[in-house]
Amino acid sequence: MVGQQPIIILRDNVERTRGQEAQRSNIMAAKAIASAVRTTLGPRGMDKMLVAPSGDVVITNDGATILHELSVSHPGAKMVVEVAETQDDEVGDGTTTACILVGELMEEAERLLEMKIHPTVIANGYKLGMQKALAILDAQAIISKGDDRDLLLKVARTAVTGKSIEGVRDSISEIVVNAVITVAEKRADGTYLVDEDDINIKTMIGDNIEDAELVPGFIIDKTRVDEAMPKKVANAKIALLAQALEISKTQVKAKIKITSSEQMHAFSEQEQGALKGLADKIRATGANAVFCQKGISDAVQYYLAKQGIFAIQDVPEADMKALAKAVGGTIVNKPDDIDNGVLGTASMIEEMKDIKITKVSGCVNPKTVSILLKGGSQVLIDELERAVYDAQRVVQDALEDGKYIVGGGAIDTELSMQIRDYASTVGGRTQLAIEAFGRIFDAIPRTLAENSGLDPIDVLVDLKKAHSAGKKYAGIDVFTGKVTDMYKAGVIEPLRVKRQAVQSGAEAATMLVRVDDMMITQSRAPAAM
Ligand code: ADP
Ligand code: MG
Repeated sequence: MVGQQPIIILRDNVERTRGQEAQRSNIMAAKAIASAVRTTLGPRGMDKMLVAPSGDVVITNDGATILHELSVSHPGAKMVVEVAETQDDEVGDGTTTACILVGELMEEAERLLEMKIHPTVIANGYKLGMQKALAILDAQAIISKGDDRDLLLKVARTAVTGKSIEGVRDSISEIVVNAVITVAEKRADGTYLVDEDDINIKTMIGDNIEDAELVPGFIIDKTRVDEAMPKKVANAKIALLAQALEISKTQVKAKIKITSSEQMHAFSEQEQGALKGLADKIRATGANAVFCQKGISDAVQYYLAKQGIFAIQDVPEADMKALAKAVGGTIVNKPDDIDNGVLGTASMIEEMKDIKITKVSGCVNPKTVSILLKGGSQVLIDELERAVYDAQRVVQDALEDGKYIVGGGAIDTELSMQIRDYASTVGGRTQLAIEAFGRIFDAIPRTLAENSGLDPIDVLVDLKKAHSAGKKYAGIDVFTGKVTDMYKAGVIEPLRVKRQAVQSGAEAATMLVRVDDMMITQSRAPAAM
């Protein structure tokens, strides 16, 4: 017989939490994360001010950003943060919603566990609930194939509602929708594909937040190589060069900036002829602007300037590619390869004042565009940029799928009521878990109401009444507290955002519910000698 000695399997640096305590710990953590972001939900949600250890300030209403800035360490909480991150990566919006849903699922799980319902039954009920929810979402979706500008604008407006930059909501929405439609690639079957990298967001401090603009072209963080070159080029014919522009035989490695013709005496006559020949050759192709991925030697710069050619050197490769897409040109290796066929066009190249960027705009059929955002402070611009990015992502989701749902608590009420009906057809203990799954959706209108200073119970009662009467688009007008047709109010969201929130939220909660043993290995400080 083995003695009474316990067998030690785990290292002594493993912190272990078991059974109910582990469950409770994860439930508390998920609820804590949800409650950290829930006050930001909806048009009347408030912002959070986050201060990093470095002192950097972020003011935001964006769930993903808030959670990213808080370094969460609890493993259960981390899973919820991951849901928000996945939501942000996959669809670009709905992060707060996803966190609230997980928090609610865990709170419901707490109740079910108290009723002695086994975690595997809960997990199964949640899985069935999720499948039903996705089916309801698909069935409720409004389908509008193609570039329905009106719906896309509504989607953009809904996404930026409630952010601190709401004053420019309409203009930003216009810009974003135009940007996405411009770069969208229409496939043979009539559907669209958008590469989000084709929309470049650039920011600058200064001017007004209203001065945001869509540049049908590209903005580059560089300026012309030589002051003697023109600051503006109208009707630009653009050469894109991959290799350095220099005369290799040059004896004098001129380190000095060549600004006058006298300094050219440092070059032999033959070299001067070759340099001039190079600039003349470029000019002869019709090009009046050169973007070079490598360096342009000073002497070449001098002659380009004399020819009135605008030039930028050391353009990063990614920017070269984007430029080529914007201006419709081809990148070639050397000046000999330049001909009319490879030149790109832009109606204007213009160096911005006060800031070292150059705008290449007025491209005829750009495959990439830039959005230039301006604002009085970095904190404001950062939040504006996040809003534009969110809007861009949702418009992209909507354009690609052509499927929409109605927000403002309308779809959520529908989900809640239909899942409850479905649960009653299942029976047994699983029914209780499915019912719980349905109830979580009430949290969306409830939170919208709470954040707007409305009575959440009244709101839920009114919503259910309207939906029972067949008004499936009935949602909550957060300004009046009245039940309103949210479709007519233009509160429209892409189906994809809600689907993703339901799916990843349910999956995370299901995993967490099944955990009854947490083993956390602490990193051990090196043992002292
Ligand atoms: P999330 O991070 O989940 O996107 P938001 O703060 O953007 O959080 O809030 C989204 C919620 O606000 C959605 O449920 C959406 O339907 C709702 N919403 C947006 N605009 C309105 C509006 N004008 N009236 C009522 N609800 C709205
Ligand atoms: Mg949102």
